[in-house]
Amino acid sequence: MQIVRDEFSFIRSITPTNRFQQQLTIGIGDDAAVYKTSAATEQVVCVDAMVEGIHFRRDTLSPFQIGRKALAINISDLAAMGANPMYYLVTIAVPESWSEYELQDIYAGMNELAELYKMDLIGGDTVSSKDQLVLSVTAIGNVQEGHALKRSSAKPGDVLFVTGPIGKSAAGLELLQQKEIDNSFTDVERSCIRAHQEPEPQISSGTYLASLGKRIALNDVSDGLSSEAMELAEASNVQIVVDQEKLHPILPDLQDVDHSQKLHWLLNGGEDFQLIGTTSEETFAQLQKSGSITLFDIGFVRAGNASVIMKSANVETLLAKGGYNHFS
Ligand code: ADP
Ligand code: MG
Repeated sequence: MQIVRDEFSFIRSITPTNRFQQQLTIGIGDDAAVYKTSAATEQVVCVDAMVEGIHFRRDTLSPFQIGRKALAINISDLAAMGANPMYYLVTIAVPESWSEYELQDIYAGMNELAELYKMDLIGGDTVSSKDQLVLSVTAIGNVQEGHALKRSSAKPGDVLFVTGPIGKSAAGLELLQQKEIDNSFTDVERSCIRAHQEPEPQISSGTYLASLGKRIALNDVSDGLSSEAMELAEASNVQIVVDQEKLHPILPDLQDVDHSQKLHWLLNGGEDFQLIGTTSEETFAQLQKSGSITLFDIGFVRAGNASVIMKSANVETLLAKGGYNHFS
């Protein structure tokens, strides 16, 4: 159904009626938002954009899921810094082919995560676009001063860890592209599809790791494991060794799929939004013992040129930076 477009009534319709953050003084409705900060914390800010046809397709994600994912991507970046989410802003470029109801569904999807993480929508911009929908989300959080977790903190001798399964989202996307969305999926297949459509950012793990005040390198897995591990290796100038024998518990659990295909999804897929990091053996052992967080040991760090190596038995292979790269 074609509906009349009115930017102002649209903005009114997506303006939150309640607020979570006490520090927010002025939200949507003025020229800019205003919030108080406290001396003991640092502000953490990130932005990520999603473009129709490049980052999402309307036949594999609903408008609700597109909105949810656009915010999830940013919450995941905050998680990778160890930050608590607080605010977000949204710029949306809208072509004629999207109805106002669909736009409101996009905001409903973002709102689902915003409620979960107590984030306030504090502004944005609404513009028109020729053919594709573009959604850019800016997220703001905070972290205790000096506690942000950087990619550059890895040291030789560290354990390489991840917070959960990787490659499930790529498996889910493949399943959606192979089969029509119907009832013929198994439970495991469904869980992969869910990982693609409604990913869960790892805020509780990120904030817990930052709260410890230990040396921990951290990154989120938005592209494949190989490219994320490479980002850690480059920022820290170390060699990262992934132990293939330790990957079993984090590979997609699909029975009829070859091991090599699962490994490909894990290394080169993307959008899992788990966290990957390194820390000393001592801190890792303490983390495992504490039981407050689930971490999978998948390798180690050693001195050498910035690179990522896959070790299987006694064979070592240099991994190409094979994750999705927008300029390749
Ligand atoms: P201005 O001309 O000052 O940029 P706008 O009419 O663009 O004002 O926006 C009015 C208010 O609505 C501002 O608070 C702005 O941040 C907010 N806003 C505009 N578009 C969006 C959007 N797509 N999502 C969230 N907030 C929005
Ligand atoms: Mg504006």
